Amino acid sequence: MKKFLIIIVAVLAVLYGLWQLSSARSYQLFGELVHRVEIGDKVIALTFDDGPSKRYTDEVLTILAAEQVRATFFVTGKETKQNLAQARQLLAAGHQLGNHSYSHPRMLFMSRATVASEIEQTDAAIRAAGYQGDILFRPPYGKKLLMLPWYLAQQNRLTIMWDLEPETDPKFAKDAQAMADYVINNARPGSIVLLHVMYQSRQTSREALPLIIRGLKLQGYRFATVSELLTMRAQS
Ligand SMILES: [Zn+2]
Repeated sequence: MKKFLIIIVAVLAVLYGLWQLSSARSYQLFGELVHRVEIGDKVIALTFDDGPSKRYTDEVLTILAAEQVRATFFVTGKETKQNLAQARQLLAAGHQLGNHSYSHPRMLFMSRATVASEIEQTDAAIRAAGYQGDILFRPPYGKKLLMLPWYLAQQNRLTIMWDLEPETDPKFAKDAQAMADYVINNARPGSIVLLHVMYQSRQTSREALPLIIRGLKLQGYRFATVSELLTMRAQS
């Protein structure tokens, strides 16, 4: 009985370790993962996950255009295919598109073929929208373990995470100003901010967006796409 308990505890410890590893923002087993770019200049990348959606793309584009900010949208292949016009609008406004998988699964225990299909179908949708640059990848739920990082490393592709995720704190769920203040107070040169703005449930995030941008501008920050941030790293 005692032996049995020890085995159970050991198995749980290993599972917990794997879970922690799969969620780590600054470490993975293969390939390069970026959660913030080491630069000295006060430049920030705003990143938006999921979508594009028919309903909210215009609203988000209007906010960004009014502030003359370019950002990076990690889109799913499925929604890009369904809402190709919105994906094209994002590109026409000068924003960057990144790959956020095709169907937004947790990509933890997946075969190589499924990983490949999630990634390649999304690349194809992003290309169909007219995007020409390098396609960066961000895993759904920030989850990765073995096959996904291995596959990306073989293709020399970066995994892009984030260092600021104000939405995860329940304190800010209904308080756009508090959400914005959190980002403004914790931003550093090269920070990558994660927001979700493409669904109805994310009203607070859409309200926080202009507040975040204006607050950071007052602190002397400017905004760039993730690829532009990475270029600045190469130069500094
Ligand atoms: Zn997502």
